[in-house]
Amino acid sequence: MEPVQTLRIAIQKSGRLTDKTITLLENIGIKFDGYKNRLLVKALNFDVELLLIRDDDIPEYVQDGICDLGVVGANVTLETEADITVLQDLGFGQCRLSMASPVSKNIKSSKDLAGKRIATSYPVLTKKYFDSLGLDAKIIKISGAVEITPRLDVADAICDLVSTGGTLKTNGLREMETILKSESQLIRTNKPLPQHKLDLIEKFLVRIEGQQLAENSRYILMNAPKDSLEKITDIIPSLNSPTVLPLANPDMIAIHTVIPITKFWEVMEQLKDAGATGIVMLPIQNMIN
Ligand code: ATP
Ligand code: ZN
Repeated sequence: MEPVQTLRIAIQKSGRLTDKTITLLENIGIKFDGYKNRLLVKALNFDVELLLIRDDDIPEYVQDGICDLGVVGANVTLETEADITVLQDLGFGQCRLSMASPVSKNIKSSKDLAGKRIATSYPVLTKKYFDSLGLDAKIIKISGAVEITPRLDVADAICDLVSTGGTLKTNGLREMETILKSESQLIRTNKPLPQHKLDLIEKFLVRIEGQQLAENSRYILMNAPKDSLEKITDIIPSLNSPTVLPLANPDMIAIHTVIPITKFWEVMEQLKDAGATGIVMLPIQNMIN
C-alpha cells in the first residue's frame, strides 16, 4: 500500500494575509501548535501541514504540486499566470490594482501615458492592461516602494496595490483606473490528487462555506402579538421557516429566525412596524444548510 501523503497548504509566512489565513484554518477546525518562525507546521488533528513562504511563491508551488492548496491574493496568482484552480474567494485581503499618476502632472488617465515610464511590481498585469488599451508604455519592474518612483523621476506613473488610497495621497498621487479587484483565494493544484486528499479538500470547502454563511447571517429573536405572525413571516427573508414559541402571555409569541446581515436594518424596521418588540440580534458561530 502507498503511504498516505499529508495534504500540504501553502500560506504567507509573514504579512497581511498570515493572521487571517491562520484564523480561517482554525475556524474550519484545523489546530496548530505555533507557526511563528517555522517553515513547515503539522496540524495536530488532521493529516494536514502548512508550508509558510513568501506570497509571491505560493501560486507556483501549487502549480507544481509541491503544495496541494494555497491561500493567496488573486493579484499574485494572476501576475504569476500559474496554472491552478481557484476553489473559493475567502473574503479578506481585499485590495485593487490601480494606475496612479502625480497630482502635479497633467495625466488624467492611462490614455495619456503612451510612451511613458510606468513603475510597478505587477509588470505582467500592467502590460496586459496597456495592450488592452492598444498603447505602448515602458514598464519598469520595482519590487517595493513603487509609490515614491514618480518623485524620484524614475517613472511618470505607477500601477500599484491600493486598499484605502492613503499611501497614494501621502505621496502626491491620484488614483486613475482600477485594473484589477482582488481578494484572497483558496487555490488548488491541477495535478491529480489521491482520493483521501480530495475528500479532505471537499470537507474543508463545506466548512468554509458554513463559516462564510455564518459570518454573513444573524440570528434574530423577537416577541410579537400572535395575530401578527403571518405579517412577520412575510417580512423575514429566512433560509428556513422561523421557529415560533409560546409565551406566558397567551396573546404573544416568540419568533426566532436567521437573516442575511445585508437585510438587517430593512427587516428590523419592518418588523417593528408589524408589531414586533424586544428584537435581539445575535452573531452565529457556524452553520450548515
Ligand atoms: P511577502 O513577504 O510574502 O512577499 P508582501 O510584502 O508581498 O509579502 P503583503 O504586503 O503582506 O505582501 O501583502 C500580501 C497581500 O495582501 C497582497 O498580495 C494583496 O493580495 C493583499 N493586500 C491587501 N491590501 C493590500 C494593500 N493595501 N497593499 C498591498 N497588499 C494588499
Ligand atoms: Zn510578496
